Amino acid sequence: MKLNFCSLSSGSSGNCYYIGNEFHGILIDAGISATSIRKFLRNLSIPIDSIMGILITHNHIDHIRGLEALTKKNHIPAFTTLKIWDSILTRHKNISRDCIREIPHQEKFNIANFDIEAFRVNHDAPETIGFRISASGKKITIATDLGHICQTAASYIKDSNLLVIESNYDEQMLENGRYPYFLKERIRSENGHLGNHQTSVFLADNFNDSISHIFLAHLSKNNNTPEKALETLLNTFREKGILFSDKQQISVLNRNTPNEMIWLAE
Ligand SMILES: [Zn+2]
Ligand SMILES: [Zn+2]
Repeated sequence: MKLNFCSLSSGSSGNCYYIGNEFHGILIDAGISATSIRKFLRNLSIPIDSIMGILITHNHIDHIRGLEALTKKNHIPAFTTLKIWDSILTRHKNISRDCIREIPHQEKFNIANFDIEAFRVNHDAPETIGFRISASGKKITIATDLGHICQTAASYIKDSNLLVIESNYDEQMLENGRYPYFLKERIRSENGHLGNHQTSVFLADNFNDSISHIFLAHLSKNNNTPEKALETLLNTFREKGILFSDKQQISVLNRNTPNEMIWLAE
């Protein structure tokens, strides 16, 4: 069966990722408006009715902005843990109750032909999870909001064919930027976000042949640039003598527009 991936939007203003095959698809987060999600899918010739579920990582608005409308108007079921549902439903009361699906931690469940596992990550929400999606013999890991890569998260991230990992801020830009001190401290804390250097060192230490795609994700608008994120990663790889083949793609996801569709299995 085919397997494809497309980032519709990635960054502190909104996150939404698509994974699909020739019949069905799922979304990971719905952090841009439902109108934009529908439009982006239409442009990719993906019928909205083929979306069998939305996996939700946490309750921050850049991950759930379009959720109410997609459950109400399109009746797409949404999947997350009980604790994350509690944190979402206190504020977002218009989510269609019929679409609420509760999922366990680190236990496989299935949507269409996708095997899915959720794992906890460190972040400043009541609970935040990352996702492992397996299909057609390939493993995709999505980890977009985390201040620290704990052992559990590391075990999923290391063992991926396609990896979406946060590279939120350039350490120097954050330090010299205009954010108040408390916010800088929150962003770079263990429960905040991953910086370019942090992500680069982890990837260099854990790089392996089975990784075919690394996508740096969730870049800050004010404290990062795509060039800096990529340059930090490539410099770190060079310093540590990490070589990769031209079959291994390393790139940065766009903040507001879809990236090209990636075919992992044809
Ligand atoms: Zn976020
Ligand atoms: Zn967040």
